[in-house]
Amino acid sequence: MSDILHRVLSGERSTAVAGDGNMLIMADGRRLLDACGGAAVSCLGHSADAVRQAIRDQVDHLAFAHTGAFTSDPAEALATRLVSRAPEGTGAGKAMFVGSGSEAMEAALKLARQYHVERGEPDRARFISRRGSYHGNTLGALAVGGHAGRRAPYAPMLMDVGQIDPCYAYRLREPGESEAEFALRMADQLDTAIVAMGAGTVAAFIAEPVVGATLGTVAAAEGYFRRIREICDRHGVLFIADEVMCGMGRTGTLFALEQEGVHADIVTIAKGLGAGYMPIAGVIASEDVVGAIAKGSGRLWNGHTYMGHALATAAALAVLDTIEKDELLSNVGRMGERLRTRLVERFDNHPHVGDIRGRGLFWSIELVADRDGAVTFDPGLAVAPRTAAEAMARGVMFYPGQGSADGVNGDHVLIAPSYTSTEEEIDRIAFTLGEAVDVAIGGAH
Ligand code: PLP
Repeated sequence: MSDILHRVLSGERSTAVAGDGNMLIMADGRRLLDACGGAAVSCLGHSADAVRQAIRDQVDHLAFAHTGAFTSDPAEALATRLVSRAPEGTGAGKAMFVGSGSEAMEAALKLARQYHVERGEPDRARFISRRGSYHGNTLGALAVGGHAGRRAPYAPMLMDVGQIDPCYAYRLREPGESEAEFALRMADQLDTAIVAMGAGTVAAFIAEPVVGATLGTVAAAEGYFRRIREICDRHGVLFIADEVMCGMGRTGTLFALEQEGVHADIVTIAKGLGAGYMPIAGVIASEDVVGAIAKGSGRLWNGHTYMGHALATAAALAVLDTIEKDELLSNVGRMGERLRTRLVERFDNHPHVGDIRGRGLFWSIELVADRDGAVTFDPGLAVAPRTAAEAMARGVMFYPGQGSADGVNGDHVLIAPSYTSTEEEIDRIAFTLGEAVDVAIGGAH
């Protein structure tokens, strides 16, 4: 009997004992092709030599020195590298490192609040986010998240947050509406929400540039984020881009926002940053945000014991080095295009696949009871988890997203393979997903 709480209370787990390239190896010898990197974490597979070596080298020198008193070479180098690469406008600021995406989101919320207080606008304490997003499990991050199921048990403990619709074309674009009209209609909800809440009370708007786990790789319509940026600027509201899942190359550019032609005031990153080799997340704050704090109290009000951990930052530096040296972003582009083609070949006419969407190596299929009218499955049928289980039985791991009870989104299966994926692996991923969908739902054709 296991003594691990989440295993005992949330169901059986196989024991993973080793990694070999893009395969995970189980204690019983089974080999699983990891087509989702956990939840879009393992972007370099499970045995990246350079990252393993960087961790060994760092631990031989220094594992930890309290960040309240010291800094370290890898933390400094990582901050410099990320700040120099962040979308123009966010870059030139500063970065900090924490242990998880949720901590990064908490830090982002607090930074936004601190920014306004330091500038003499203490009434700005409220946030606006989007339905169907996920920003983490700590109470602040959960409050700004739009994952109805995860929020529900804690609802009385959560701060009151304004919410607008996501830019989710498959479910929200109206017949006859152009992409540009849809983008503006969705973005203008932010303007309406800010005005309704009182512009002088809103600290920041939070969005994932490509919505990951909750909706399943939903990128915004062209022009949406440019309008969002304008609205935020007009009302003095900061824009926090949550790139915890979609950042660090997952969509084909280091930051997903690069493809939108705008910058955020604060960007959070996590999963692909440590690639699963170390728990690490980052917060990058623009020059404007940092400058306001520097001119004000001159100190950061928020901190954690393991901030800027030397081992974790050394691992993240090696991840970034590997992505650059091995030119993996071009492989993300090439393999992403191959994955898109294979998914379209397999599912374009499938009676239970309503939408195929994504960017880079970040794709999803949305499963529907009926394509006409995009009718969702009853979430109780657990269609996505059953599909993932069928795929797992065939040796490939996917990340299932269950439809929400409030009908905001349907079931989807998320695909986020390693940036080192080969053509054979991509073909196997699409083929196995096809079999799994047919077995789990029926409707083979
Ligand atoms: N933000 C996004 C977009 C995420 O997908 C997640 C986790 O899935 C988080 C924040 C929270 O990250 P963590 O689970 O590392 O706390």
